Parts: sequence; C-alpha cells; structure tokens
Amino acid sequence: MIAWIHRVEPTGSRFVFLDRDGVLNRDSPHYIKSWDEFHFYPDALEALRFLSRRRVDVVLVSNQSALNRGIMTYDAFFHLHQNIAAQIRRSGAHLAAAFFCPHRPDEGCSCRKPAPGMLRAAARLYPMDLSKTCFVGDKESDLEAARNAGCRPVLLHRNGTGSPEVLSRAEAARVPVYTTLLDAVQDLFPDPD
Ligand SMILES: [Zn+2]
Repeated sequence: MIAWIHRVEPTGSRFVFLDRDGVLNRDSPHYIKSWDEFHFYPDALEALRFLSRRRVDVVLVSNQSALNRGIMTYDAFFHLHQNIAAQIRRSGAHLAAAFFCPHRPDEGCSCRKPAPGMLRAAARLYPMDLSKTCFVGDKESDLEAARNAGCRPVLLHRNGTGSPEVLSRAEAARVPVYTTLLDAVQDLFPDPD
C-alpha cells in the first residue's frame, strides 16, 4: 500500500473517503498513467472546496494496479499525484491523505478494493469513526470496500459513465446515489461542523 499523507492533523472531526478515477476525474479503460491523461470533472474541484469549507477531511482511496502490471512507472505515478494535489491546492481545497494499492488482483494483497485495508489504515492514522464515514465511489468494489470496513457506501453514478448493473444493485441495497460529486457532498454535509 502507498500512503501519501498530506496533512497529519485533521482540520475538523469529519472525514470522507473518495475514490479517484471516475469520481474526481474521467476514468479510462487504459488506466490514467500521466498528468496529460488526467481530467478533473467540472464539479470535482468545487466539491473539494465545499468539503474544505465544511472542514471535512478528504482521504483518497484508489486501486492503481497499472503500477504492478508494469504499465506505469512509480516515478510517473508520483509525478501524477503531485500534480493532482497541487491543482487541488491551487483551487482552494486540500487532501488529507491518499492511499493507493499498486497490486495486481493475483497478488492477493489486503489493500486492493474491495478489501478494506486502505480504509482501515486511514482509520489508524486519523481519529475517524468508520461507521459514520461515507465512501463515495463509482464501482461495485468501492461499495464492497465500504461495507467490508464498516463505512457507509455512497454511489456516484455520473450520467453516461456509470454501470446500470451497479446502479440497480445499489438502489436495491438502498445505497444513496448521486449523479455529481458536488450534489453528493452538499447532501451528505449540509451543516457546518
Ligand atoms: Zn494492494
């Protein structure tokens, strides 16, 4: 597991887990391997600013198996994350931390979602009540990871990009569903701390 700690001291008492690809930025079946390929969704930076104003600390939780598949170098990956974090800072928001699983599925690690390893690692680092913490993701593996860690799963089903099967299973399981990240965070955190 790769843990990138931007801020050790929480800014408030609330946290939210966010998946990266498909939540903050457009996903690709060919992986996001460089800053050139990384495109924030229009509402994502506004959503992060909203969370900062609400003093909700953001922890990214992302599978990046392109690393151990040999499709992306660790240098390129670190460069990409530095650029993402810098762009978020310039926009007036911030990340508390980012956790990444570099492993391939066949490596059988405990961090690749739907395993809860990255969420539990965050809960050891910060004073976080997992049962009160939402995890906003766009894939079944995100919802499963949330359940496996005892968090509250939230589905982001962006128009035109989400899987209809994931949506129908989420609705059947009464998982909250939103079509933009901004809608999700405004609804999940309506009040100041
Ligand atoms: Zn892993």
